Amino acid sequence: MSADQPDDVPTFVDLGLRAELVTELSNLGYEEPTPIQAESIPQLIEGRDLLGQAATGTGKTAAFALPILERLDKNRSEGEPMALVLVPTRELAMQVSEAIHRYGRGLGARVLPIFGGQPIGRQLQALRRGIDVVVATPGRAIDHINRGTLPLSSIEIVVLDEADEMLDMGFSEDIESILQETPPTRQTVLFSATLPSRINAIAKRHLTNPIRIEIARASVAAGDAPKVRQSAYLIPRSHKPAALGRILDVESPTATIVFCRTRLEVDELTETMNGRGYRAEALHGGMNQEQRDRVMNRLRGGTADLLVATDVAARGLDIDQLTHVVNYDVPSAPESYVHRIGRVGRAGREGVAITLAEPRQHRMLKNIERLTKQRISIEKVPTVADLRTRRMELTRATLEESILEGGLDQFRVVVETLADEYDVMEVALAAVKLAHESSGAAADEEEIPDVQPRPEGNDKKKWDRDKGSSDKGGSYDKADRGPKKARGPSEGMTRIYVAAGRSSGIRPGDLVGAIAGETDLSGRDIGAIEIADRFSLVEVPESGVDQVIDAMKRTTLKGKKVTFRRERYET
Ligand code: AMP
Repeated sequence: MSADQPDDVPTFVDLGLRAELVTELSNLGYEEPTPIQAESIPQLIEGRDLLGQAATGTGKTAAFALPILERLDKNRSEGEPMALVLVPTRELAMQVSEAIHRYGRGLGARVLPIFGGQPIGRQLQALRRGIDVVVATPGRAIDHINRGTLPLSSIEIVVLDEADEMLDMGFSEDIESILQETPPTRQTVLFSATLPSRINAIAKRHLTNPIRIEIARASVAAGDAPKVRQSAYLIPRSHKPAALGRILDVESPTATIVFCRTRLEVDELTETMNGRGYRAEALHGGMNQEQRDRVMNRLRGGTADLLVATDVAARGLDIDQLTHVVNYDVPSAPESYVHRIGRVGRAGREGVAITLAEPRQHRMLKNIERLTKQRISIEKVPTVADLRTRRMELTRATLEESILEGGLDQFRVVVETLADEYDVMEVALAAVKLAHESSGAAADEEEIPDVQPRPEGNDKKKWDRDKGSSDKGGSYDKADRGPKKARGPSEGMTRIYVAAGRSSGIRPGDLVGAIAGETDLSGRDIGAIEIADRFSLVEVPESGVDQVIDAMKRTTLKGKKVTFRRERYET
């Protein structure tokens, strides 16, 4: 339990949010506030100004959106905006406005994004009908102010989001003029990923006695951060499921926990990964104890190899067989990262932590590195060419195994007769081609864009170092987790010995796929699977054993006939 987060994380109700908001957050699958939300929401509800250092991915949007909505008078029918959020780009304007709209659905909040490049007429119409919150880029906000179409006299709260970006884009004067137009009694909130002196100067001029929230400065005491191989991939969101599958294929973990932010994400990813042939189970706060126990038993028994979970649901879990932790998103605070990866690499064992970050979240990785004083190397997602090479390696290994096994004499006549007419090399090439094609490895041909972080200033040297080491690729040498021969199968299950293992490229998914595809059993009926170098063991219900052995006589595994028989073991 030592690596778990303390149980004093407040709930959204504890933060003082009204029922309509709490309901919406629960509908969205948010289980608890992120650290920045827990710190800032109560103070913002009290009306304090705030200067917050927070990068994207920390949950900062909800941190200011919820207090805005908390102030909203539900019965406002028309009227001038009461909140103004300034953001650097049109993308962010749309994103923030959608987020506020989602959180405020139960309150009927009217939110309008205002940015350049969009017909101004539509914006004018909406403003005339009455709007509660305006999310604007500074340039377009100034246009409206000059036309007299953006009334600011009822503004109660102004948020400057990603203030450092706005300054970098040259919006400094615009921001000053906009702030001049708003009532001096307003509440002012400033979020920025960095706090250079220019930001502090703005804060000094426009914020009154603000609370300051900065990312944790305290570093994790040496030895507290677990010894874990840590890597990250920069991947656009839409490619994440494919990338996760591909990375898992290369890593071949024994058991993995994948952390997602919300309940909805957990359910969605579990379904996607099951559809891709992994044995994934969901675990989140919406499940009762019985459901949770069932999931944990499947993971502990080896019937599932991927646990997809939220932080809340995974708190307090201690799973021995875990080898890999995957952050499907960068955690909302460096501390959560440390807690999460603490689930592997326990008791002197080696663990692996993998983070899938969106390109914009690169900065959060840097914060984590700073806090843990450990390096997270940015790796390249295996390309289609890498996969092809790997498949080719597997074919080579299969052929070599076949040569070592012997018993090839019956085919000699085929080679000899062909050799009369063709070069032996050509005969061999044709045979390799057939072996390769019939290995049946599902080809995942979708190319995943390779995004590398943009080196900036002092970071460039370090980036080059990271890149140099990542080019070498992961060299994780997984201990052979071979079957424990003396242990019997689970109750009601019988273990089948399969005469092919890791060195033939067999993965649990191949055995599940072959058995579920050739018999009446479904993936869920299949129990624990253990893969050793030269053989595998798979548990199936006793009633299905003969059917499996029989069916597997008629089919091939990775293009080869493989013996399936009842395992002989001592109890
Ligand atoms: P932001 O840092 O505001 O860009 O938010 C990053 C992501 O975290 C967004 O996709 C939000 O929907 C999500 N998010 C924000 N707060 C929470 C929370 N308390 N629990 C789960 N997800 C959240």
